[in-house]
Amino acid sequence: MLLPLFAALLAIIIYLGCAFAMYKYFLEKKQFLYEQMNCWHCNTELIWGGDQSISEDCLPHLQEEYSMMTNLSCPKCHSDVEVLMPKYAYD
Ligand SMILES: [Zn+2]
Repeated sequence: MLLPLFAALLAIIIYLGCAFAMYKYFLEKKQFLYEQMNCWHCNTELIWGGDQSISEDCLPHLQEEYSMMTNLSCPKCHSDVEVLMPKYAYD
């Protein structure tokens, strides 16, 4: 009589433990993926404007060294930030 109850309780505890671990994992992953950058001048969080692939048609003068350009802008002081990712960034 008590055993099924105990088993059910154990299952609930294990389930909650898993859910909590997954929640923590995704929270950390999300923080890593969407880590924000702040303005060099006024320290306000920058707004992501877009990523641009660098190719022969787009910014060809950069294509030897870089593969992607990210545009960010500051909503407070209106500074623009361009981030150039090297071609071999993850080698
Ligand atoms: Zn700023």
